[in-house]
Amino acid sequence: MKNLVELDKNHFIHPTSSIQQQQEYGPKIIVEKGDGIFLTDKEGNVFIDAMSSLWNVNVGHGRKELAEVAKQQMEKLAFSSAFSTFSHEPAILLAEKIASIAPEGLNAIFFTSGGSESNDTAIKIARHYWRIQGDTQKKKIVALKRGYHGVAAASTSATGIPEFWSMAGRLMEHVVHAETHYMKGTQIAIQSLREIIEQEGPENIAAFIVEPVQGAGGVIVPSEDYLIEARKVCNEYDILMIVDEVITGFGRTGKMFGIEHFNLQPDMITFAKGITSGYIQLGGVIISDHIHEVLKEKSKGTLFHGYTYSGHPVATAVGLKNLEIIEREGLVENARVMGNRLLKGFQKLQEEIDIVGDVRGLGLLGAIEFVQDRSNHQRFAPELQVAVKVIEALHQRGIICRPVTYEGVDIICFAPPLIINQYQVDTILERLQDAILDVR
Ligand code: PLP
Repeated sequence: MKNLVELDKNHFIHPTSSIQQQQEYGPKIIVEKGDGIFLTDKEGNVFIDAMSSLWNVNVGHGRKELAEVAKQQMEKLAFSSAFSTFSHEPAILLAEKIASIAPEGLNAIFFTSGGSESNDTAIKIARHYWRIQGDTQKKKIVALKRGYHGVAAASTSATGIPEFWSMAGRLMEHVVHAETHYMKGTQIAIQSLREIIEQEGPENIAAFIVEPVQGAGGVIVPSEDYLIEARKVCNEYDILMIVDEVITGFGRTGKMFGIEHFNLQPDMITFAKGITSGYIQLGGVIISDHIHEVLKEKSKGTLFHGYTYSGHPVATAVGLKNLEIIEREGLVENARVMGNRLLKGFQKLQEEIDIVGDVRGLGLLGAIEFVQDRSNHQRFAPELQVAVKVIEALHQRGIICRPVTYEGVDIICFAPPLIINQYQVDTILERLQDAILDVR
């Protein structure tokens, strides 16, 4: 039998991973199969996938229905272009379905293959929107520190985690970062947004991009009024608001879209991950009726932006079936109920264990932050690697979740599949308690 570890080391460059660590240790887990909330590795070890892999396997692993729909669509029409005058039924139907569940006033969809492409697309559409109205100066993008928007050119630039600029620089000029609401609260974060806009000149700014909950930055849930205030600032300065729902879309937070928690209307919503629960690559941008009208009226000639796989027939057919499953099984409501249970469990851990600092959650998106001293949020020395050690202790107990350690924080994140039940939530919590006590 082939030595998969050696082959991996020699030939497979992993995304967002340490090449040197890979050369030293090889892959730690070679996953063989998935079923429900569980993953099984090649040695037969079973894990709870408490991250839905990359925050995306919302309906859980091993859904034959999705495999079946992909097979049928491949047999019927595996691929056909959506460029220019070509179209096909799965893309049309999925666009219509997304429009029907999206917040009011957002009804037109541009498809991509993932989150990074979606954010690059939204940023280009924002600039185009101003350009076709004669505002060629309105080019800059304001994003938030600790925000994550992907790794394509514009999305790398919009990402506010400096580690992501270390590979090849910040790539795009014209992106500025305001303070996140993390640990600072609404007032300071909104003040920073205003200052950045004033400093750069609102006449130079095309859009503000923000996640409803900052995911990769450490599951940072804003206070109730932050996004509403940010929307007001965007209106005041005539700046488009792009809401990045790549993680939060399609039920993750206990509502169909994360932005529904905040009662406001964005100009664009970007999505990916949960639209197909990761069964196949798909993403997109949902555009407001207003932007759509301006495009219809003023975007002359060809819109020179499109991916070969924009509106891929198989991906859109899977997306449609995936949304059917989410609705049929009431998974948005389940995410809300199970998310509350998970958060209550975190709060109990916080009461009982002194190194559990902040705990956060919105639906099935949650995090725990470890601190040395809760009274003043004093963090552990980075070399202690507390979050990484807890992750390892959880791993030994059959739970996969994810650490966030940017800028010296010790955060562990949870985003289990939306199908999780109360016993499985309790299992995660029990093992989590053991793992933390082990490391403490
Ligand atoms: N936006 C957010 C909020 C994300 O969490 C991610 C990925 O984790 C992306 C964008 C990038 O998506 P992708 O990795 O599909 O390009």
